[in-house]
Amino acid sequence: MANDCIFCQIVAGDIPSKTVYEDDAVFAFLDVNPLAPGHTLVIPKNHHETLSDVPEDTASELFSALHRLTPAVEDAVDADASNVAFNNGEAAGQEVPHVHAHIIPRFDGDGGNPIHAIAG
Ligand code: C5P
Repeated sequence: MANDCIFCQIVAGDIPSKTVYEDDAVFAFLDVNPLAPGHTLVIPKNHHETLSDVPEDTASELFSALHRLTPAVEDAVDADASNVAFNNGEAAGQEVPHVHAHIIPRFDGDGGNPIHAIAG
């Protein structure tokens, strides 16, 4: 855990969050500033800044969770599709330096492109 990391503090329960899913390696919670209903962040519990810093076994666990959570999130909000995206590094718009995937539910005709929105 990195003491100054807001997502580590969320995993530890020191900052409240709306938990979507949790296992030994992965934690998922609702984004506090959602771009769509059900906007979910999926993170490894261990602190790694970017995807490049994540060990391969953690990357597998993260992707496996994404594989299961993406359809579950879509179902939960009756979405038609979703954007699943990483802002990977500060220059790419990553604001919180603890690697995280966004699952952003999409609805037919909702317009816009959340990929542009989350990239800042
Ligand atoms: O990819 P990026 O780093 O820009 O996204 C960070 C995300 O973390 C934002 O969508 C922001 O709303 C979210 N966040 C959160 N809870 C916090 C701080 C940030 O859900 N306490």
